[in-house]
Amino acid sequence: MKLVFASNNKNKIKEIQLLLPESIAILSLDDIGCTEDIPETADTIEGNAILKANYVTEKFGYNCFADDTGLEVDSLNGEPGVYSARYAGEQKEANDNMDKLLDNLKGKSNRKANFKTVICLNLNGEQHLFTGIINGEIIKEKIGTNGFGYDPIFVADGYTETFAELTLEEKSNISHRGLAVKQLVEFLSR
Ligand code: IMP
Repeated sequence: MKLVFASNNKNKIKEIQLLLPESIAILSLDDIGCTEDIPETADTIEGNAILKANYVTEKFGYNCFADDTGLEVDSLNGEPGVYSARYAGEQKEANDNMDKLLDNLKGKSNRKANFKTVICLNLNGEQHLFTGIINGEIIKEKIGTNGFGYDPIFVADGYTETFAELTLEEKSNISHRGLAVKQLVEFLSR
């Protein structure tokens, strides 16, 4: 089976490919010639996943899945949430985003947070949503060089290393996206 994954993020594509059975081949946006920036204008994580998947299905006619992720920090009322990518501005710089978050958490004792991924699958005219959540906390400095985004400042519950210190395999096994993809795979294998 060939499925379009509505992304060109190489990290994400690698993470997801690791979790999919060999019988499912992923095509990226580049692979189908979709070069435009897909609008992510919804105000929820679910809404953006749906927007992205629908864009590809409606414009290109493919079965497709899209994911959207946000980091929700308890003591910041769920911020940055749906705005995680551009928390510190439209340049979408991971370092700037982490610096802003660390600044906003200065002096706060509750550093609990969770990553949430929603995957929207458009398959043969039907739509299905899968959600993966991992709880953890935001530490006070950046540690580790693997992964992307907020990985250097997020430690999952039960772990002592940040996501950026884990290998790709270790992270994918427990991560928000991993959990959502496992549900997607289970659904596709039925
Ligand atoms: P996206 O909309 O799924 O691309 O995710 C929005 C933003 O959330 C990204 O730009 C990253 O800043 C952050 N993010 C998404 N997934 C992860 C992850 O696995 N680790 C760390 N940060 C992530």
